[in-house]
Formats: sequence, C-alpha cells, structure tokens
Amino acid sequence: MFKHRVFFVIAFAFALAFADVFMPTVDIARQASSAHAENSQVAVVRTGVYTYKGQGTVNTHWIETPGGGLVVIDVQRDLVHAREALAAVRAVGKPVRAILITHGHPDHYTGLGIFKQAFPDAVVYASAVTENTIRTDSYGYNAAEQKDAPEITPREFAVPGRILEGDVTLTIDGLVLIAREMGRAEANSVTAYYAPASRDLYVGDLVMNRVHAFMGEGATGEWLAALDRVDAMFPNARVVHPGHGDSGAKQQLLTDQREYLRTVRGFAAEEIARSGFTAAAKTATARRINERFRYINPTGNADIVALGVDGLFQEFSRPTLTPIP
Ligand SMILES: [Zn+2]
Repeated sequence: MFKHRVFFVIAFAFALAFADVFMPTVDIARQASSAHAENSQVAVVRTGVYTYKGQGTVNTHWIETPGGGLVVIDVQRDLVHAREALAAVRAVGKPVRAILITHGHPDHYTGLGIFKQAFPDAVVYASAVTENTIRTDSYGYNAAEQKDAPEITPREFAVPGRILEGDVTLTIDGLVLIAREMGRAEANSVTAYYAPASRDLYVGDLVMNRVHAFMGEGATGEWLAALDRVDAMFPNARVVHPGHGDSGAKQQLLTDQREYLRTVRGFAAEEIARSGFTAAAKTATARRINERFRYINPTGNADIVALGVDGLFQEFSRPTLTPIP
C-alpha cells in the first residue's frame, strides 16, 4: 500500500509537470560532426540534437546513416515539443530509418506517434522492459498525462514495434549500432546505444549533465553499478550523449554523475543517521542536495529533488540483497 501511495505521488507529480509549468523555451537544434580529424580510425558521422534550455529540458538526438537516412534517439515529452523536434529532424533533409527509445519515462517516448506519422517506415526499437512499460503504462504516467494535459498528450500512445532481444548489434541503413541493456537505474530499464564507427554513446538518463537526477525509481545503488558497467563496457566511447543536458567527454560525464549520486546518498545517510526515516530528514536531505547542486530540473515538478528523496529513502529502508557500492 505504501508503495502504491508513493506511486500515486510520483504519478501526480508527473501530472503536474504537464499542467502549466512549461514556459516558452528557446529551441536549439545542433548539428555536429562527431569525427575527430586527428584519429583516422574514427569515421565521419554527423550527429545532431534537438533540445531546449531550462526547466523540463530533454534531448532528442539523431545520427546520420551511411545510406542517407537518420536514426533518432528519444522523441520528447509532449506533442508540442515532439513537433518541434520533428521539425528539427526534417530540417536535416533525410528520412528517419529507425527510432531508438532509451527507457520507459514519458519525456522520452510521448512524441513517438508524431514521428511514426511522419516516417511510417521507421522501425522503433526498445528493450522488452521499456516496450512493456510504455504499452501497459505500468508507471501510470500515460494516464496521468492524458488526464492532466490532454491538449498536449496523445489519446493513444504509440508503442515500439521491435523489441531488442537481449544484447544485439543493429545495422541500420549502413550504420552499426550496439544495443546493451544496462538494467534498472534511473528507470526500471535503460538501453545504451553505441556507434563504434564514431565512438558516440547514447545512454538515456544514466547520465544527466548538470541536470538533477530523478531518483523516484529508488535505485541509486543500481544506477552507480550501471555507470561502472557503462564505463567498462564501452572503453572506447568518446562522446556520451545524455538524456538531459549537453553531450560531453565520456569520463567527465560519468565522473560527474557518480559524484552526484554518491553525494546525495551520503546526504541521505547522514540525515537518516541524525533523525531517522522522518520528514525532517527528507527535508534536510533535499535542501542539502539543492544547495550543493545548482542544477536544472528536468521535469515540471516544483522540486524534483524533494520528490526524488522519497525514492532514495525508500531505497535505503527497503530490505535488499543488493550490495551498496
Ligand atoms: Zn528518465
């Protein structure tokens, strides 16, 4: 029951995110070449991103394929931003061959129907867990969005059509992409996609660059372990493309994300030691996190940190066999 109540709180908070908070944003579509001239081993692969500054920011990335098309990674949080992302993708002037969904949080998949309508032949990939989360609405986010922001929410959520069966290497229009399931972390599942030709790595919300982490999943320990696996699994990755915030050098972004998670876990542990699993301890933890990290809030919630602290406290109070890193 506790779990259900917490779920409701999270769902409600997400619902609030879509109600009224999105102020006009500055749209940015960036196009970049990921190749580096000094290394002849790295192919020239052009990548781009649609994003916007400030609260609620979330990225739609794309990669140009050798065959003259595009692969798009994640497709925005609502119909308004999805249409803007689609316009940015169309401006490249190439057809979308495939869409990759990193995880089952609605800011990454709500715009899928818009993209499918524009590019009906695009194959949409996701892990089995992510596909199931979207199709069954297991978090309740889809229903919450439809209820609270119907004007910017699809009546029916499009679902990925191709499930990644374990660890697979995709060749899409001549572009090789390695998909690796990284497990539960920021969400119940996250898939990393790696383009070995250009050494670009797309990690969804395993990395949030100077953006507050959503800890509602209650799995920061598993998240830290997933970051270690990313580090070891993709030793040659050059650029990490996060779900939120700017792309950047792999080691810097992994180091920053680890520091964030270790710090917030440390704050929570100290406050729990001081005053137990209490409201006062939660409030103090959230205050310390917000003071330590002057980061962007990736949702429309008034305080995503305070919301996440609930998940963190659940994680710390739950019987578990998972070692705490
Ligand atoms: Zn997420």
